[in-house]
Amino acid sequence: MNTRTNLLDFDLDGLAAFCEQLGEKRFRATQLFRWIHQRGASDFSAMSDLAKSLREKLPGIAEVRALPVVAEHVSADGTVKWLFDVGGGDAVETVFIPEDDRGTLCISSQAGCAVNCRFCSTGHQGFSRNLTTAEITGQLWYAEHALRKRLGTSERVVSNVVMMGMGEPLQNYSALVPSLRTMLDDHAYGMSRRRVTVSTSGVVPMIDRLSQDCPVALAVSLHAPIDTLRDNLVPLNRKYPIAELLDACKRYLEFAPRDFITFEYCMLDGVNDLPEHADRLIALVREHGGGAGLSCKFNLIPFNPFPASGLTRSPRERVVAFAKRLSDAGIVTTVRKTRGDDIDAACGQLAGDVKDRTRVEDRIARQRRIPLVPVSAFVTRES
Ligand code: SAH
Ligand code: SF4
Repeated sequence: MNTRTNLLDFDLDGLAAFCEQLGEKRFRATQLFRWIHQRGASDFSAMSDLAKSLREKLPGIAEVRALPVVAEHVSADGTVKWLFDVGGGDAVETVFIPEDDRGTLCISSQAGCAVNCRFCSTGHQGFSRNLTTAEITGQLWYAEHALRKRLGTSERVVSNVVMMGMGEPLQNYSALVPSLRTMLDDHAYGMSRRRVTVSTSGVVPMIDRLSQDCPVALAVSLHAPIDTLRDNLVPLNRKYPIAELLDACKRYLEFAPRDFITFEYCMLDGVNDLPEHADRLIALVREHGGGAGLSCKFNLIPFNPFPASGLTRSPRERVVAFAKRLSDAGIVTTVRKTRGDDIDAACGQLAGDVKDRTRVEDRIARQRRIPLVPVSAFVTRES
């Protein structure tokens, strides 16, 4: 059995504690951290400024190891998708999206997802397990250094990270936070807080904890303006309904001043895309933010269909009309461009390959028997 410690499992404080156990000072941990994350090194013998004794000690007890790559696909638009083997028959996906002014890496936090949203193919696969910090950080470490090599550059390639791959990051909180800290650390990737986004379906208590531990940019997957509908699309809503979620967003912004919440809204034909829905969203944002309303942006995501969902994408004109209605009410609204859909790398298409350990098939069969709420049901759920 491999008993070596994977150093990708640590943020700088964690690595310093590991080094301390070896009788090494903190500055040695900083050197090591820089070699690993800034230079992509995994061979301790090449880390020339480390004390020779440490260089000799490390290979027996430690390693720097990303997940094995099962497959890599490059889209016509330059998007790259990797499938990583996480063992036990499971695989997760990571996507790199190059744009003119940035390079965004979309990272997975779990093998599968237990939230089971009706429109998400990851959710339909069920949940297998949480990823470790090493497995989360390793996706960035691998992608950044593989891309640098390919592009023949020593400059940084990944400028932004979004935790929008497979999984619900706030249901894997303890592994997530050290990864976020590594992304932000100047001795590693040195990203600003605003360039690292955690996307959540609304795990309210963990939104509060994140505001204390590591207040990066927050995206909230809203998808519906009324509880009866959101209960059905995002089952976690039954535990943390919309009003509680928006209150948590408001509290979050107290710790992330000058920031805004991004609300993601997947546009589903005839389900959540009508003018009444937009009007209700506008009212919600006004109700929950004090005088000026909650500081937020909307990002409309045209639904990426997959057969088992039984749902279809809103027509383009309806997405545009919805965006205009929100914009006219003073809410900054964008429509997400679909990238990498020729390689199934677009939002909600990340299915990886997960052994369901939660009997999701049964749950989905049950869920699909529940009709979606008719538009006329503009009443909030009775408590
Ligand atoms: N679990 C987190 C992050 C991963 S999902 C969350 O739900 O926020 C990333 C985004 O993709 C979410 O906003 C999610 O709602 C959206 N998404 C999921 N399935 C989709 C689909 N089929 N089409 C478009 N967007 C989808
Ligand atoms: Fe999980 Fe997010 Fe997919 Fe919902 S949308 S099932 S929370 S990954």
